Amino acid sequence: MKTDILAFGVHPDDVELGCSGTLIAAIAQGKKVAVIDLTKGELGTRGTAETRKAEATQAAKAMGVHARENLEMADGFFMNDEAHVKKVITVIRKYKPEIVLCNAPEDRHPDHGRSSKLVSDAAFLSGLRKVETTYNGSMQEHWRPHYVFHYIQDRYLKPDFLFDISDYYEQKIKTILCYTTQFNSTDNSEPQTYISTPDFLDVIKARALMFGKRIGVKYAEGYLTTKMIGVKSFDAFIQNVT
Ligand SMILES: [Zn+2]
Repeated sequence: MKTDILAFGVHPDDVELGCSGTLIAAIAQGKKVAVIDLTKGELGTRGTAETRKAEATQAAKAMGVHARENLEMADGFFMNDEAHVKKVITVIRKYKPEIVLCNAPEDRHPDHGRSSKLVSDAAFLSGLRKVETTYNGSMQEHWRPHYVFHYIQDRYLKPDFLFDISDYYEQKIKTILCYTTQFNSTDNSEPQTYISTPDFLDVIKARALMFGKRIGVKYAEGYLTTKMIGVKSFDAFIQNVT
């Protein structure tokens, strides 16, 4: 399946927290979008790999993405080595995205930075015809996405650009709330965590409001890029008074 955007998260829920507003907006604009989770999030304090899987399926429906896959790498312990890079290349070549979205280069959870580097390296190496991968027994064609953007998730990082999600913010929150074991919980039968209480959603909102304010819209998501972005029309810019 050819997609326009392939969004990677190391844990199921990273994509929802970091870039689901952008994905929902892109789908509304007619883009094809798929999500790849690297791990099942099996080390999460609350819930299990099974509950997380069911929640991820619900959230994929809520976002309206065209496909979602899990690469079943080891949560906390996956490496940026040949075997893992090739796993990522296989899905990049399968979905042929123009744009890859992935975790922030540094964040509270060390998996996020490691996954960011793993996916960025794979996006580049996927373009080399001598890096061989197979899918369903057939050799894959080389494919290099045009851009790799890193969504800002927990730690504040200064964004290189901001994506207006004002029309899709409520839908973004609905996708996050699909993870009933992880967020907005007053259920104390399992330990509360850094992200589990209703207060955490205030932080999500504050970040989206703050990023939105910078570009004169209600809500936005922030991204980092190492590749220079080229434009061919100023019409793509939001031109509000800030
Ligand atoms: Zn995560």
